[in-house]
Amino acid sequence: MNYTSFNKNEEFFVDMQRCIGCKACEMACAECETNGQESLIHVNYVDRASTVQTTVQVCMHCDDPVCANVCPADAISKDENGIVHTANTERCIGCSNCVLACPFGVPKKEESYDLMMKCTMCYDRTSIGKKPMCATVCPSGALFFGTRTEIEEMRPNSTPINTFIFGKEIVNTKVNIMMPKGSTELIIY
Ligand code: SF4
Ligand code: SF4
Repeated sequence: MNYTSFNKNEEFFVDMQRCIGCKACEMACAECETNGQESLIHVNYVDRASTVQTTVQVCMHCDDPVCANVCPADAISKDENGIVHTANTERCIGCSNCVLACPFGVPKKEESYDLMMKCTMCYDRTSIGKKPMCATVCPSGALFFGTRTEIEEMRPNSTPINTFIFGKEIVNTKVNIMMPKGSTELIIY
């Protein structure tokens, strides 16, 4: 199999406001045979007492991934395409440092495997030119994998941003979040 077909022109765009909470993405992710039937995408309620609005969280594939930086076993690696891979099963010691360090709350410790697992942007698919499973099943367009030109045509009133500010920390990511047109960053309090 050719693993060098990652299309560098295609990117992941998440439009939280379009998420309708159907969990089709979670179901599709859990069907992946490489995940051990665990979903590595997570749908969350914003404030269930007052709204039905949901959000959806994938790994943001940070330029400088703190999950990898804090891993004492060197189990997490970032490749030349900017994909931050899930823990190497041979190396991960299940310490949960990455779980605690990730600013987006992405990695989960799977107790039954004593292993951290997280989204790899469906590397088994994207590395051979296919789209991530979640993006192919999302009915509302909350998850989109394609080119910048395509997303600009589809969402003329939105701007994709990939700079996030957590206090004094600035985190740049490979994955984009759709924000109102003209936005340059998302400040997270
Ligand atoms: S498939 Fe799309 S709309 Fe449904 S829960 Fe996932 S992100 Fe939200
Ligand atoms: S979002 Fe979290 S798990 Fe994903 S690369 Fe960044 S620090 Fe690592």
